[in-house]
Amino acid sequence: MKKKFDADDLNLISLAREYSNEKRARKLFEALRWPDGKPICPHCKFDEIYKLKSKAGSKTQLRAGVYSCAACRKPFTATVGTVFENSHVPLSKILMAIFILCSSKKSVSALQLSRMLKTTYLTTWFLAHRCRHAMATDLKAAKPLENICEADETFVGGSGDFRTILQRKTCVALVVERDGKARTRVIPSVTAKNIGKFMADCVNTDATVNTDEHVAYKVALKNQKRHDRVNHSKYEYARHNPDGTVSHVNTCESFFSLLKRGVFGAWHCVSREHLPKYASEFEYRWNTRHDSDGQRMVNFVPMIEGKRLYYHQPAN
Ligand SMILES: [Zn+2]
Repeated sequence: MKKKFDADDLNLISLAREYSNEKRARKLFEALRWPDGKPICPHCKFDEIYKLKSKAGSKTQLRAGVYSCAACRKPFTATVGTVFENSHVPLSKILMAIFILCSSKKSVSALQLSRMLKTTYLTTWFLAHRCRHAMATDLKAAKPLENICEADETFVGGSGDFRTILQRKTCVALVVERDGKARTRVIPSVTAKNIGKFMADCVNTDATVNTDEHVAYKVALKNQKRHDRVNHSKYEYARHNPDGTVSHVNTCESFFSLLKRGVFGAWHCVSREHLPKYASEFEYRWNTRHDSDGQRMVNFVPMIEGKRLYYHQPAN
């Protein structure tokens, strides 16, 4: 009897043993991409699909995994219409890269990944960025954060002499619900306008938001139902309120300390342009922290749909 696929059983050993074969890797990728077992046309969303096969005796052989739509007649594979469209990397290596990125708590560098997958540095760097791009939360579909939230910001990078170091740092804003999800955004500066827009996009106005004493939060959260501030300049880091709640931003500090392990320990250097993608990667792992590594990978695959990332942005 064929063993039923169990996401919790998925680990590096089982992935390498059972899915290093390209044919089996394609089957797994298709099963994760179309969980109902029926391919859907990425061009017109029609579900009557047939598999294309090479004609007997034909000199040209059709590659594996090509389907055609009964309505629009366009051919497609499982990667068309996803962030991996047009990738020449074998699916077994793509699956392996997804698993490694989903399970490495402090991330991995592209150089490390390229040695593990036996792909070139640039191919791996772009493959990892495709994954990170897909990991970003879709704010239109996501539920706004509620209950007790914490908001804070940190600065990443920066080099040079003392005068220029602050100008070169990039600000990452974070809002996190206690025992819930996190949302990150790279902002040009900590102003009430930037913070206010970020909060309006991510947090319900009925939520309680804890922040430090930065004045931008006071202005940005003036319409919030409840805004608690802890005064770090007076060495106040956690305050027990009479209603039994505790005001602090320590959950944010916890998220930032993980992100900085990635910057110092794995990537060493991140550009301002690509920082949102690195932050999304940590955000995704944080939001799925209660899942097993295999489950996190299985949950990731549907997120690749409808997203594209270009190495060179097309002219039009
Ligand atoms: Zn179609």
